[in-house]
Amino acid sequence: MIIIFSGPSGVGKSTIINELLNHISLYFSISHTTREKRNNEVDGKDYFFISLHEFNKLIEENYFVEYEKYGTDYYGTSKEQLINNYKITVLDLEVNGASKLLSENKDFVGIFIDIDDNELIKRLKDRGHDNKFIEKRMELAAAQRSKINDFDYVVNNKDINTTISNILNIIYNLEVS
Ligand code: 5GP
Repeated sequence: MIIIFSGPSGVGKSTIINELLNHISLYFSISHTTREKRNNEVDGKDYFFISLHEFNKLIEENYFVEYEKYGTDYYGTSKEQLINNYKITVLDLEVNGASKLLSENKDFVGIFIDIDDNELIKRLKDRGHDNKFIEKRMELAAAQRSKINDFDYVVNNKDINTTISNILNIIYNLEVS
């Protein structure tokens, strides 16, 4: 089963996926990206950090099932990542890549993680972002929500424990159906 998580940035997708790993066995698909590695990230675990030159070469080699430019950087999922021995593979993708993969693969499951506007503003403020940045992010969130109908499920991430239990329910129901 391939599950794609997507949603506006700042909704807490990575936290949700990390927390899910404490509850069920799943494979987290590791993307390739041209963006700079952050201090807390590990190459080969969080992402494969590569140059734009290498990324372009992989595109030419038809290595990705999907790739997108997000902000100033490229992100892509390799075909290899979808082949593993786990029953469940989880992808964390921005909305355009997610929506493309979902339309091409009817058996993939799309979960859109959303959050109320005032909660998103609060989180972005807590992260130290200024009003201009927050305004941009809110516009982006609105654009991302326009693709919400491409997803099979929408989960509002108000409280992490409720979110995890909602997602575990979705997975359980998919497994038994
Ligand atoms: P970040 O730079 O914060 O790690 O990720 C930025 C965005 O890129 C997030 O929305 C994340 O879901 C998305 N992303 C990560 N990997 C991929 C990928 O392989 N393909 C696509 N389309 N988006 C990705």
